[in-house]
Amino acid sequence: MPRSLLIVDDSKSVRDAVQKALIDTNLFSDLFYAENGIKALDILLKNQVDFIITDVIMPVVDGFKLVSTIKNQEKYRNVPVIMLTGQKDSIDKIKGLELGASDYVTKPFDPGELIARVKVLIRMQELQEELTQKNLFLKSLNQKLEKIAITDELTGMFNRRYFFSRFVAEFERCKRFSQSLACVMIDIDHFKKINDTYGHQVGDIVLKKVGQIVSESQRVYDIFARIGGEEFVGSLSNVEQKGAVEFAERLRKKIESYNFLEEVGETLKATISIGIGIYPHKDKAIENIDDIIKIADDALYKAKNTGRNMTVIG
Ligand code: GH3
Ligand code: MG
Ligand code: MG
Repeated sequence: MPRSLLIVDDSKSVRDAVQKALIDTNLFSDLFYAENGIKALDILLKNQVDFIITDVIMPVVDGFKLVSTIKNQEKYRNVPVIMLTGQKDSIDKIKGLELGASDYVTKPFDPGELIARVKVLIRMQELQEELTQKNLFLKSLNQKLEKIAITDELTGMFNRRYFFSRFVAEFERCKRFSQSLACVMIDIDHFKKINDTYGHQVGDIVLKKVGQIVSESQRVYDIFARIGGEEFVGSLSNVEQKGAVEFAERLRKKIESYNFLEEVGETLKATISIGIGIYPHKDKAIENIDDIIKIADDALYKAKNTGRNMTVIG
């Protein structure tokens, strides 16, 4: 990787000596020079700089001020800085390191030593870079895993486990703030027959499309999921019976009128049955989500037994 080096010193002979020491190493492709901190900051602003070697005592803005200014910026956090210090300035060395310099070299310096120190810091910088990349990769991998853990593979909707974890929280919230909550159970009618007639693959297409229509019909703060083979469930917050039925009927009609094989010029229709449970219930006590799910399940069962393609309130 081509790197650039900024050499900061008010003495031209020191700048030249640093350049001379490093020129044949091929460690740097670009060199910048500044005779004080202010000029250095100006160069940093306008150029990509990967390594800095700076004097301490300079007019206008000295090395300490330069280091503390750049080390306060995220952008330069991993840019190594070597400070060039006088023979006796051990206090300066400590101060420089405390401000964020990576290392120091005492003037007059031995070129071999300077090269060795620069190489160590470049290696550290490369390792740091590698670590950052790996961390970014791990982070994105983790995000993907988190998504997979809550997603139903076929439909891309939330899965059963995630639904229940969210539904419990939603139920507790509604209970606490005396708000209503509806549980909507949706089951495709005679889905087995679709599979038997058209094959499993077409069955999958129907499942995906039903899932998509359900997802498109929901409000952003509602939670819908595929909880079983051809069964979907939804949580509608702050909804009374009228609103829940309106939602369910709208969805039922959308599915009823959809042609699942339109794209291939054939006709395949499907219908759904819907059972709804509402908290608070007019005459049943609902203590937890199992109670409300049972009411919705029983209502769905009733819809199945009284003709299908309908909505029943439990
Ligand atoms: P009902 O109207 O009473 O709900 O009848 P049904 O045929 O829809 O219900 P049943 O429970 O008898 O059959 C559901 C079928 O769904 C059986 C199963 O093979 C199918 N199924 C479950 N998961 C999938 C899937 O991921 N893809 C496909 N293609 N079929 C599935
Ligand atoms: Mg000086
Ligand atoms: Mg079914």
